[in-house]
Amino acid sequence: MNGSSAGGESAPTGDLTMAPDQMLDLARRAAELLVERDGSLAAGGAWDGEFGEGLAPLLMEDPPEEGRPAGDVLERAAREILPYAARLDHPRSFGFIPTAPTWPGVIADFVAAGYTINVATWLTASGPSQVELAVIEWFRRWLGYPEGAAGLFTSGGSAASVDALVAAREAAGHPERATVYVSDQAHIALRRAAMVVGVRAEHTRTIPTDESFRLDMEALRRTVAADRAAGLHPIAVCANAGAGSTGAVDPLEALADYCESEGIWLHVDAAYGGFAVVTEEGRQLLRGIERADSVGLDPHKWLFQPYEAGCLLVKDASTLENAFAIRPDILQDTIWGANHPNFTDRGLQISRSFRALKVWMSVQVFGMAAFRRAISKGMELAARAQEHVVASPVLESLSPGSLGVVCFRVNPTDVEVGETTVERVNRAVLARVFWEEPALMSSTLLNGTFALRLCIINHNTAWDDVRATLEAIERFGREALAAETAPQ
Ligand SMILES: *Cc1c(COP(=O)(O)O)cnc(C)c1O
Repeated sequence: MNGSSAGGESAPTGDLTMAPDQMLDLARRAAELLVERDGSLAAGGAWDGEFGEGLAPLLMEDPPEEGRPAGDVLERAAREILPYAARLDHPRSFGFIPTAPTWPGVIADFVAAGYTINVATWLTASGPSQVELAVIEWFRRWLGYPEGAAGLFTSGGSAASVDALVAAREAAGHPERATVYVSDQAHIALRRAAMVVGVRAEHTRTIPTDESFRLDMEALRRTVAADRAAGLHPIAVCANAGAGSTGAVDPLEALADYCESEGIWLHVDAAYGGFAVVTEEGRQLLRGIERADSVGLDPHKWLFQPYEAGCLLVKDASTLENAFAIRPDILQDTIWGANHPNFTDRGLQISRSFRALKVWMSVQVFGMAAFRRAISKGMELAARAQEHVVASPVLESLSPGSLGVVCFRVNPTDVEVGETTVERVNRAVLARVFWEEPALMSSTLLNGTFALRLCIINHNTAWDDVRATLEAIERFGREALAAETAPQ
């Protein structure tokens, strides 16, 4: 970057710079590539990939000693690297938790990188720090969190979980024999966060869930009581607000009451589901989230941002700084002015990219009404998919359907087959969707039962995309069952 030094017109100033016209050519070509990709996205499949044996010969090479034309390098990346990946923003990308970023969000990442913003401290990035404060303030109000709540952007939900459990551990006085409680539907990010903050693996307790995959309060009470009696020290209960497998939301009000009475930190993992709170339906579903001590949210999921964008909010701003702030000599100059935070004091990272800009820019460009409609649409399409499943003679619903997620399987009422056959049929259906349909779908296990799963949260998905995928599943299911039950 820095194509021209002060006063210079276009001559590159060093070996690692480009002339302005070269910079513009490369940027224009990159923008064209992305716009072309966008235009042809729906016409192709939601996934492509290649085994290492196919890719390694193309890419495992020594770096060139002399440079090559930038346009050629970009074309090569577009030809040999970038196509071999899931197209998570495809309208039929229903696997795992997808995202379909908005263009202003993508451009914000480019601009933030070009400006070389490091949101470590107020001194290095006052404008960007103020925007991070402003966007966190939006999130605070959306959640219904009290004033005095604060937070920071992170790389994602995993990092937010680590930051949350560090704060919880310190708030509890960093006890020697700490325990953490997660439901059997919790994301592995929470177990890993507990491990990172020094909780022994066997001291991360798994609490069972009910038939709706919501944490069982009685089991939690019993486990905590037994742990206290055994001299252990509960430091955090982790609740789901949109569990990855099923979209389940734990009983947040009851958990908040319980954690308050027990003096245990309540962390709500709302990584994918939390932004539903901007809609009326989501607000009802997530009632109680505003009482948690901390909430993790991933803008790179249901707020349509490019990777990486996670976020942690804590109810009491001081808990994060008490846990993380260390003021080293080399950063002594960054104590600059009063009444503004250094984001590095709130979490794991020192150098931090300017993630808040993408949220800020895309919300400025489209407005909240458009975001609300896009999030509502995901819930509506999933509810419609759930109705389709329930009405289908071929499909069986396996979860209540929540926050854009639908779990089901092929299991016709008019065919008698055993559980192992049903599982084999469903695995075969998943494989055929993968190889033959333009859709990307994934599966999960619910109480040991193999379940097909659709996560319908991309803003560019239409009902036809969902319907066509469900109909393909029904067709493949019938065919697989016919093959299983055919006379030998
Ligand atoms: C995605 C997700 C995580 C992990 O977040 P990353 O951004 O992938 O690090 C944690 N919990 C839930 C419920 C998630 O959906």
